[in-house]
Amino acid sequence: MTETPPVLEIRGLHKSYGDLEVIKGVDVCANRGDVISLIGSSGSGKSTLLRCCNLLEDSQQGEILFKGEPIKWAGSGASRRPADSKQVTRIRTNLSMVFQQFNLWSHMTILENVMEAPVTVMGRDRAEVEEKARHYLDKVGIGDKCDVYPAQLSGGQQQRAAIARALCMEPEALLFDEPTSALDPELEQEVIKVIQDLAREGRTMLIVTHDMDMAADISTHIVFLHQGLIEEEGIPDQVFANTQSERLRGFLKSTR
Ligand code: ADP
Ligand code: MG
Repeated sequence: MTETPPVLEIRGLHKSYGDLEVIKGVDVCANRGDVISLIGSSGSGKSTLLRCCNLLEDSQQGEILFKGEPIKWAGSGASRRPADSKQVTRIRTNLSMVFQQFNLWSHMTILENVMEAPVTVMGRDRAEVEEKARHYLDKVGIGDKCDVYPAQLSGGQQQRAAIARALCMEPEALLFDEPTSALDPELEQEVIKVIQDLAREGRTMLIVTHDMDMAADISTHIVFLHQGLIEEEGIPDQVFANTQSERLRGFLKSTR
């Protein structure tokens, strides 16, 4: 039997900003359908790790494999960069990111925002993309907002538009960086609901979150980062109900 390789595998990753090492040798493996929540204190390296995964940040050491295919590097250490720009584009479009601050284009309508990357970056057929974009906007519950601009939407609606935009790339996995933390509490829930639906569909997702209830509810695996290292990881039941690390216990207490 041939095994399907993981969608994303990180092995021994190190990343520094100048002299400051913020990821100090991290392994993460996401198989198809896995929902991995990255938790940890502010500054522990969660965003950096996520951004290294889809090559928004360079890393200095370690391997990143997308569906078994290793990222090709040029140079080493501080001068290491991805060697193949086509490979970078393929990986970025397949590991589509949703940011805390939505990052929608303010001068484009919601529909145009969702269509932009598939049409201009991926070169897909405009009419087909439009159909998909409308489908995904419906799916996240804002199918009636196609022709308005981001500023005319609530934060929760903007974040749902950003999720539709990520889905319209038809990626292998979705990466979320604190998708609900810029939202008022009453708007958080509508975004959480969309993410829960995606988890139930079996989408592969890596989610940086401070929302322990959501993490416990939807994750197949929890990774607790502390100062750039994995301090504890496992299935939610184990990590939350049978916590081993004193640091994780302290962190969980602080989130309640
Ligand atoms: P988290 O998302 O867990 O809060 P980050 O990944 O944002 O943590 O940051 C990890 C560490 O890296 C922090 O010490 C932060 O100050 C530092 N850092 C993050 N981004 C940069 C950057 N662009 N330049 C320099 N240092 C950075
Ligand atoms: Mg962060």
